[in-house]
Amino acid sequence: MNELFEFSESHSEPISSTTDKWKVLSVEDDQSYQDVIALALSDLTFMGKGIELIRANSAAQAATILSKQQDISLILLDIIMETDDAGFYLVDTVRNILGDTIVRIVLLTGQPGINPRQDAMQEYDIAEYWNKADLNAEKLLSVVVSNLRTWQMSHELYVARRGLQMIVDASRALTAKQDVDAFAHTVLEEIAHVINIPNSGGIACALTDEQHENISQAAIVAATQHFRPLVNSDLENVYALYSKDKQRVIQQAVAECIDLRQHVFHQNLSVLYFDTRQYDNQQYLMLIDSPHNLDDSHLSLLQVFAENISSGFVNQALMDRLSQLAYLDASFGIQNRNWLVRELKQIKSSNRSEYTLILFRLENQDAIEMMVGSDYANAIRRALVASLKQHFPASMLMASWDDDTIGMVFPKQQVPKIYEIEQFRGLPLVIDNVDIQQQINVGILHFSDLPSLAIHQIVIVANLALNKARFRNLHVLQFDTQMLNSLTARMNILSELKSAIASQDSFHLALQPKVDMSNGKPVGFEALLRWQRHDGSMCPPSDFIPVAEASGMSLELSELVLKMTVDAIQHIHKAGYHLPVSFNLANNDVSHPAIYRAIEAYIDTNQILPSMLEIEVTESQATRDYRVLNPILTKFIGLGVKVSIDDFGTGYSSLSQLTNLVATTIKVDRQFVHDLTGEDNENALHIIQMIIRIAQRFNFDVIVEGIETKEQEALLLENDFRFAQGYLYAKPMPLSDLMDWLAANPPA
Ligand code: C2E
Ligand code: MG
Ligand code: MG
Repeated sequence: MNELFEFSESHSEPISSTTDKWKVLSVEDDQSYQDVIALALSDLTFMGKGIELIRANSAAQAATILSKQQDISLILLDIIMETDDAGFYLVDTVRNILGDTIVRIVLLTGQPGINPRQDAMQEYDIAEYWNKADLNAEKLLSVVVSNLRTWQMSHELYVARRGLQMIVDASRALTAKQDVDAFAHTVLEEIAHVINIPNSGGIACALTDEQHENISQAAIVAATQHFRPLVNSDLENVYALYSKDKQRVIQQAVAECIDLRQHVFHQNLSVLYFDTRQYDNQQYLMLIDSPHNLDDSHLSLLQVFAENISSGFVNQALMDRLSQLAYLDASFGIQNRNWLVRELKQIKSSNRSEYTLILFRLENQDAIEMMVGSDYANAIRRALVASLKQHFPASMLMASWDDDTIGMVFPKQQVPKIYEIEQFRGLPLVIDNVDIQQQINVGILHFSDLPSLAIHQIVIVANLALNKARFRNLHVLQFDTQMLNSLTARMNILSELKSAIASQDSFHLALQPKVDMSNGKPVGFEALLRWQRHDGSMCPPSDFIPVAEASGMSLELSELVLKMTVDAIQHIHKAGYHLPVSFNLANNDVSHPAIYRAIEAYIDTNQILPSMLEIEVTESQATRDYRVLNPILTKFIGLGVKVSIDDFGTGYSSLSQLTNLVATTIKVDRQFVHDLTGEDNENALHIIQMIIRIAQRFNFDVIVEGIETKEQEALLLENDFRFAQGYLYAKPMPLSDLMDWLAANPPA
């Protein structure tokens, strides 16, 4: 008996499991009963497999065995062993600690009086309860067989459930896929996991209805493992890998699959069928080749998996179709800019500098569309697409950029040379065999020049580059770092300006004297805005004022300048000088009621005398918007505030427009003064002589800007000019310096 126990014990703990026998664990401290069981089961075969009986003579020993072997199907368990309820402890261990929910447990007892509680039977999923005396050999066999069958079913379910979990996990990876081909590839990889043949491969091929007659021509869209090199070739190449016999098997399975429009499962070869014809006019076949025969559980798992992913295929094809529509530009017949942006986003930003974007813009496309209709305009667009494809095959992405532009992305090494692009521009487009000459402008943008920009910023920059090309009448424009720098500088100014305006303390005024040239005495001042940036540098008004205007911040700035000008007037006044100060008003602010109200309030509350304040408006805006501006300028003059037309002579106002101007003063632009001593001095002299005559005729005061030399001063004096502003007399300076200057240069 002992020997037998010893023997069976040594056999009872094999770590590796064999799949060709059903494993039954007999837990019994009565060795003679163990022998009875062993004898009864020794000849049993079920579903073609025999029984491997594993013996344990205590609950503790059984627990050890169970923890090492996962594939035991049935436990025949004596309740009373070490203790009266040792068997129940084991059940609890199996279900709750080892977590084996599917192993079948049959309780046996030698003492008929002890009945396990019904609720415990249910709670622990105990299959049956037998009195040993009632369990003859025949009964035992039927109990074992029925429990093995149940185990087999639940095991399949268990594996399937685990497989489904994998499918769920896999589907996370799958939903990220962008198209059916990528989806098919991932499915193939997942199948290998699910059916536990990680090293075997498979292929997926797409088949159109027309290819039914010639299935071997179906295109392979995805392949794994050793099939990988076959992607993009056709099914025929797969056949070629096999022996004649196996070829026939595969061909038969494929034919069957297509005829019946359903999956075909064999133990070492399965062909899955997915029908997405409704969406992409395709059927997909998946050939799974397994190196060994799949067992039933894996086959049924494959079945479950196949059903599960068929909806995935349909979804993917549908998504493809939808995104094709969403990403398609119908006029050009190619993908659109959103698609291109999506593709570009997928390039890691660290790798992006390896690529170059080139934009090809058809000029005058609007006019063509209007004159000859959109059909012809679209024919031109498509002809451009065809021609670009033909001439620049190295492009890796191509999409429409907007109504008249195509974007192409090239790997940096394969970017067409400028002369090649110029050559291309010279070629006609061909529509219905007729050559037509179209002007095409080109913008080139190396991503390496814009390393810090996100894709949406690159889109903005590219548009700017192209507009600039058109503006400058350049046909091929390389977007360079200089352009980027000025753009980035503008962006930086914008963000810094916002907080500067909010805090106000980084602005101050520089005041530049206006003098009477006849005696050099000051007659007034112009207030010019100065902005000191975070880094201490001074930003010139020509840089930040246009940014402020373009971004809606100029009113606040104008209000600030007005306030500082009023402060300066008061300061100068307190020092005993009665000289006016002019300030500049940005385009839209002149007519803004807030400015008028503020000026009116300063005057009404006696903070300043109206004659001490002057407003400067540029000539270009004064003439362009005179209908809006004249009434308000008239109101200012009515208050007693003077109005100067700044930069006069640069706005190209005609003489008739001049008569429209509401102003007290004309400030002649410094360009004319500069030209007086230059090459074309006669012409410049002629112009300023005309200006002074007009000014006298219409009763404008006149002041000349930008006098830098005595020579200029002499010429101007000769021509009846009297008042001037320029470096010759003084540069713009802070108020404190101005007080010193005034002390040295007191007014008359
Ligand atoms: P502007 O109103 O025509 O101002 C005269 C500009 O000419 C000033 O430049 C001044 O420094 C410069 N200037 C004066 N004398 C000479 C000279 O002899 N030679 C040369 N080369 N330049 C001289 P600034 O201060 O850089 O201002 C440039 C422009 O910015 C101003 O032209 C004005 O249009 C605008 N600006 C200045 N401050 C403000 C402001 O507070 N608001 C608005 N909206 N614009 C302002
Ligand atoms: Mg000015
Ligand atoms: Mg000026």
